[in-house]
Amino acid sequence: MISARLLQIAMMIERKKVVFDVGSDHALLPSFLVENGICDKVYAGEIAEGPLNNVIETVHKRGLEGKVIPVFSDGLAKAEDDVDIVVIAGMGYHTIKHILDSCEVERYQYFLVQSNTDVDLLRRYISEQMYTIEDEKVVYDDFYYQVIRFSADLHEPYSEMEIKYGPILLQRRDEVFLAYLEDQLEKLKIINKRAKKAEYEEKIKEIEKIIV
Ligand code: SAM
Repeated sequence: MISARLLQIAMMIERKKVVFDVGSDHALLPSFLVENGICDKVYAGEIAEGPLNNVIETVHKRGLEGKVIPVFSDGLAKAEDDVDIVVIAGMGYHTIKHILDSCEVERYQYFLVQSNTDVDLLRRYISEQMYTIEDEKVVYDDFYYQVIRFSADLHEPYSEMEIKYGPILLQRRDEVFLAYLEDQLEKLKIINKRAKKAEYEEKIKEIEKIIV
């Protein structure tokens, strides 16, 4: 079974599309997509030799030849023309930004991005490019992770609140998002107790306003 984080990403992938998983490591997501009939073909991209060998081993062990396709590539540099959806997950913001800066975002139907760091910076980047955030989910998997679906469709820049907390998440206010905010609030209160700062207090008020 895959992690709750990867499962959330899998649930945001339209059936029967061709997916490119950037930085696939053990090819867990591509294998899951194919083995569960969600996709017939998934590219598992890797920039490093060790993880690429992990991909090749998984494909061989699970008999997924021709369905999960290992690609030695920095980001989408070697992506074929038939790719519909791109997944970039489990990396830091700066790596994700490098991958997005180096590709033609317009070529793809949509991206699913999950950054382990600076999700607000990632949303700011999406906003500055005038891309459209189409969906967002928070998933708990030992930590809270955010998965953002965006496309190159034109959108006016998002507000500061939308960049910080997510336009769709703010609109939907689902249970996991609110639990994530409660968690953030608790942590901020502890930090602020130890070292009082105006910026913490401002953020506490901001989150309290959303939760109410
Ligand atoms: N995507 C999987 C996940 O979410 O569980 C694996 C994440 S793993 C922590 C990050 C992987 O991204 C590493 O195997 C690394 O080699 C790969 N990676 C980092 N930069 C990359 C790039 N520019 N292009 C392709 N792969 C990259």
